[in-house]
Amino acid sequence: MKALAIFPHTPHSMHLEDVSKPGLDDIAGGRGVLVQVLRVGVDGTDREIIEGKYGEAPPGSKFLITGHENFGRVMSVGPNVRSTITPGMYVVATVRRPGHSIYDLIGLQDMTTDDVYYERGINLLHGYLTEYYVDDAEYMVPLPANLREVGVLLEPMSVSQKGINQAFEIQRRLKVWRPQRAAVIGAGTVCLLAALTLRLRGLEVMAYSRRPAPYYNSDLIAEIGGHYVSSHDTSLADATAQYGPFDIMFEATGNSPLAFAAAEVLGKNGVLILASITGGDTTVEVNTDRINQGFVLGNKVMVGTVNASRADFESGVTDFVRAEAFYPGWLNKLLTTKVNGLENFEEMLQHLESKDAIKVFIQVASDEASAAAGD
Ligand code: BGC
Ligand code: ZN
Repeated sequence: MKALAIFPHTPHSMHLEDVSKPGLDDIAGGRGVLVQVLRVGVDGTDREIIEGKYGEAPPGSKFLITGHENFGRVMSVGPNVRSTITPGMYVVATVRRPGHSIYDLIGLQDMTTDDVYYERGINLLHGYLTEYYVDDAEYMVPLPANLREVGVLLEPMSVSQKGINQAFEIQRRLKVWRPQRAAVIGAGTVCLLAALTLRLRGLEVMAYSRRPAPYYNSDLIAEIGGHYVSSHDTSLADATAQYGPFDIMFEATGNSPLAFAAAEVLGKNGVLILASITGGDTTVEVNTDRINQGFVLGNKVMVGTVNASRADFESGVTDFVRAEAFYPGWLNKLLTTKVNGLENFEEMLQHLESKDAIKVFIQVASDEASAAAGD
């Protein structure tokens, strides 16, 4: 079968590999699930891997099969898989696999203290940009069939969900915390999904990003009842005066100075969620006394977040169901750019550079079940 692979640390080495189809026996204990891949999304992490800046092949392999934002359909299950996952079901698999720390041992590998990360399609484990994959049922999250069009967004949604779920978990310390206003810094997929999540939890949301409104993403924010503000014409301090103070701020621009700009304006008892993976070396001067004093006198929290646990994928499914009810069709609008077939990866690479695309994804196989159902 075909797979899209790269040679680690070799810029622009993406190519098709011919690999053998996996089988249920590849997974111990009869807990294997064989999945046909239907769609796989790509993001900034894939871009870094393609540029040769990140990513290792599995031991013994010269190449790494890429792709972590997966969506597929179950073909067959091992004898010891419980009936919650059955052939024909739609599933999304989580990305990170356990290493060795105590967190990994209790299923919270997203909280690992290990230095090495095992992530499918990213580091040391093959990913999902292929025709079939097999994995342990433990890592498989089922989705209802009415989410089949948008299911490929569940992995990025899990990243947004983890940050926000963590914030609520931390703020239980406040006993009566009722967050009302949130800011999302950035307007990419993860930020849009964070804005959605916060709206579904009843918060007013301001999205703050570079590009002046109106454009596609600012319209999406307006459609869920949020406010879009451009850094082009409004400072974060002015935006905070108008829409804050913020109880929750979620930063995922990839521009680390904004994390500290957000820290300066965060509301009292507020929580700032940092979700940008910034591989660079940016250095700026910030007013440390002011930020520090604000955090001390305001009992504020800044929390970093990466990856997501199974529970975050599951809360993502619940919020997707609610999103389809409250904002029908909205999720689908994030799927701006579809590429048909693994062999058209050059086209996918071009779209990945586009500033106008929100989610670029490859339709790996057609969804025969839904075709048979006549829709
Ligand atoms: C993925 C996460 C992963 C992170 C770091 C992100 O793009 O969505 O699952 O943990 O990259 O590799
Ligand atoms: Zn990702």
